[in-house]
Amino acid sequence: MMAEEKFELKTVDDLPVVNVGKFILDCMREHDPESVALVDGETDKRYTYQQLIVFVEQAAAGLQKFGVKKDDVVCLLAPNHIDYMVAFYASAVLYAVVQPLNPLYSKDDIKRATEECKTKYLITIPPLLHKVKEALGEDNEIKVITFGEADGYTSFSSLLDPSNVSYTTPEGDPKTCVAALMSSSGTTGFPKSVQISHYNMVANTLQQRAAKLTDVGDIFVVFAPLCHAFGLYIITVTVHSVGRNIVLMSKFQPDLYLDLIQKHKPRFLHVVPSIMVMFAKYPKVSEYDLSSVETIACGGAPLSKEIERAAKARLNVSRIYQDYGMTEVGVTHSCSKEDIRYNSVGKVLPLVKMKIMNVDTQEECKPNEKGELWIKGPQVCLGYLNKPEQNAKTFTKDGWTKTGDIVYEDEDGYLYIVDRLKELIKYKAMQVAPAILEDILLKHEAVADVGVVGMPDEEAGELPRAYVVKKVGKDITEEELINFVAEQVSPHMKLRGGVEFVTEIQRTVSGKILRRTLREKAREMAASK
Ligand code: AMP
Repeated sequence: MMAEEKFELKTVDDLPVVNVGKFILDCMREHDPESVALVDGETDKRYTYQQLIVFVEQAAAGLQKFGVKKDDVVCLLAPNHIDYMVAFYASAVLYAVVQPLNPLYSKDDIKRATEECKTKYLITIPPLLHKVKEALGEDNEIKVITFGEADGYTSFSSLLDPSNVSYTTPEGDPKTCVAALMSSSGTTGFPKSVQISHYNMVANTLQQRAAKLTDVGDIFVVFAPLCHAFGLYIITVTVHSVGRNIVLMSKFQPDLYLDLIQKHKPRFLHVVPSIMVMFAKYPKVSEYDLSSVETIACGGAPLSKEIERAAKARLNVSRIYQDYGMTEVGVTHSCSKEDIRYNSVGKVLPLVKMKIMNVDTQEECKPNEKGELWIKGPQVCLGYLNKPEQNAKTFTKDGWTKTGDIVYEDEDGYLYIVDRLKELIKYKAMQVAPAILEDILLKHEAVADVGVVGMPDEEAGELPRAYVVKKVGKDITEEELINFVAEQVSPHMKLRGGVEFVTEIQRTVSGKILRRTLREKAREMAASK
């Protein structure tokens, strides 16, 4: 077991202003060089800290030689892969901007995101090349690199020359230079590129360490996608900064996850609610020895009390707690080791400021009064790329971010998430932007109007459900529309909650869909099942 962190953060002046790649290399040089930093859960391939440092330096040298420069956007379109973090850290030390994209993205999503961010390089895996080619079209200038060999493409490993670890880190301001462009639909509309600076990333890592969240374990089995803030830096960069071991899964498979826990014996698991459902209900859970697990943290979406109780009893773990974060503001709330309050996401991390605002009066709420959560702090992003209107709606001039989450705080400062003001749907904690589904459905010749909301579901949290007004004289079935959408979206965005035909979609005077009414309908539908 590792020693407890002695680290404290009293003011922002305690935070280093540093390139995140350089920060992580400096941290890694302090760790035991022989200890394991990364394991590929499927193949058991391993990198020690010593190897990881060397590979990052070789990759930085190789990418620089290949032409990668400061501010160039390097897209990572791949499932979790042992070289993903090598590519990320290497791009970071060159002050290139990493754009992690969900490998499940449809070709339209990839096209939109790469055009919007003016992507210059794209690192992917060979099985995705077909989709990448279709998405980028013939006459684009994006240079494609592959993890693994593929005819006609430069492989990532071919860029690594064991005799060359020399690269130059250009001048850059860690507070204004973007380390990663993370996708999030925020409170409304299509996915946008959230600009996370080097400083933001290092801050959120150190805020977690100062809150002693890293004391809970030595091994972290990570199924969370590295293309999400949670997988990339909230977990992985933080864990590497303290010298522990990350076991990566390329995608979530229940049996493999259980097998990896049995094999690697982590004391701590960081999960999302759908995995708690698995712990509570999946019959095979009892076939595995999961007795190493002492603590489980759950975040990303609401966790039901029944599921929490059932999982706790079945796994016989002493502590389950929730935490809270959002791509735009990082992880902001968690429970301290000693004090877990049931159903709460805990208290603010060091240097995070919050206030809860009454949605109608815009005045600050009193304890136990519900309102919208606003967040401020050094970990809050630099805003959305090229989206002035959205930026003005979400980020106030004096530095607050409106999260779109309805919450309350008790007298002792514990936060409870109770509802969502924003459009966002979360299917198994993955973001689904209703705007994308509505846009697709409106292109169907039989659809006059549409509103998409989340329908509660025990296992997935929410299922996207569409309310559709048919055009006069046109006929279409629910199944046809479900298939029409499924052909065009990533698997997690399918209309698993179904389609219901209605005569009208109610809107506000300004034309916005009255989602509350639709959500109520979806809740009633779920309850009647
Ligand atoms: P993302 O940006 O994909 O991380 O999604 C952030 C959103 O997930 C938040 O704004 C919340 O709506 C939701 N969320 C995150 N953690 C929790 C939690 N512990 N309980 C309820 N909702 C959560």
